[in-house]
Amino acid sequence: MRRDRKRVLVTGGAGFIGTHLCETLLARNCHVLCVDNFFTGSRENIAHLLSDPFFELLRHDITFPLYVEVDEIYNLACPASPVHYQFDPVQTTKTSVIGAINMLGLAKRLRVPILQASTSEVYGDPTVHPQPEEYRGNVNITGPRACYDEGKRCAETLFFDYHRQHKVPVKVVRIFNTYGPRMHPNDGRVVSNFIMQALRGEPITLYGDGGQSRAFCYVDDLVEGMVAFMETASAGTGPINLGNPGEFTIRHLAEEVLRITGSASRIEFRDLPADDPRQRQPDITKARAALGWEPRIPLEAGLIRTIEDFRRRYFETGRAARF
Ligand code: NAD
Ligand code: UDP
Ligand code: UDP
Repeated sequence: MRRDRKRVLVTGGAGFIGTHLCETLLARNCHVLCVDNFFTGSRENIAHLLSDPFFELLRHDITFPLYVEVDEIYNLACPASPVHYQFDPVQTTKTSVIGAINMLGLAKRLRVPILQASTSEVYGDPTVHPQPEEYRGNVNITGPRACYDEGKRCAETLFFDYHRQHKVPVKVVRIFNTYGPRMHPNDGRVVSNFIMQALRGEPITLYGDGGQSRAFCYVDDLVEGMVAFMETASAGTGPINLGNPGEFTIRHLAEEVLRITGSASRIEFRDLPADDPRQRQPDITKARAALGWEPRIPLEAGLIRTIEDFRRRYFETGRAARF
């Protein structure tokens, strides 16, 4: 890797958020090392970056040690959608826990900053609303979401212990629901499901009564917050919430997707999955104060861009049938 540029490792760099982060870092003149085992990410996601001389790709599973030389680490590797992380729950916990140990070991040896992509799922089904960083959460330890939630909670513990015990400069961000171009069309998450269903003219699957809420952050806003946090020493270690506080019911999201796509799909009600949080909304007071960061892209504008991306990638090319 070139030493005249900051060398940045992005684990999970071929995934949805990771590809956007790699693009942003390249645009900021970093040399990017993308490490991914392609469990949910793909070469196709980063095909447009492969010809960039400052972009390197390494196929590797972070549950195994990794010896490279870099100046900064963003640890994003981990399946993020319930369908994907419940496919092989033991591997999900291993990725969060053993993966964190390996990446922290790397950061400790190199004495470089490391940012952990944690999640609002550490709050579980919250009893406090909106969720500030101090809230300790309400996670079902033995439920089907626990491999992800508890894995991410343990990873946070490791980050703060490596910080206290080994003086590793850590940064922990708790990411709330994020959406945008290059989401996996088949990941079962609500935004991708609704868009694919609407564009195909299939029924929109609304779980429960659709009255549960989420706050959706457009990926560009999120990545801007992550990079700002990494680069702002005065912002400290976190944990810090990053998300868009605009809260909407899932029913409203379905109606918005139908309106923007002009689809004639009807809404079909399905059972609510186990442990599905009733509401979720970030309290971003800390991120606002520490970074002057504020999400800028409202839901409608973000959905328009995302729907356009799905149309182009899957429907204009006829590839929708493959998913
Ligand atoms: P994603 O599934 O698109 O990306 C995850 C990437 O990690 C994929 O490219 C996958 O192949 C890779 N990966 C998985 N296990 C790996 C392993 N053992 N070794 C190497 N690579 C591995 O998900 P995403 O939405 O881009 O999420 C990225 C990160 O952000 C995750 O850590 C996730 O927990 C966190 N996050 C995402 C959201 C969201 O709404 N998207 C919300 C909260 C937190
Ligand atoms: N590790 C790694 N790359 C490095 C340094 C360490 O993958 O450059 C891994 C190493 O395999 C170890 C883990 O990180 O299992 C934790 O490292 P640490 O130094 O904390 O533990 P130790 O090596 O003392 O067990
Ligand atoms: N959801 C839904 N229909 C779908 C997929 C999801 O109604 O086809 C609901 C789901 O029950 C949850 C919300 O949308 O209440 C967000 O789900 P997602 O899996 O995207 O994220 P998470 O539950 O992890 O926030």
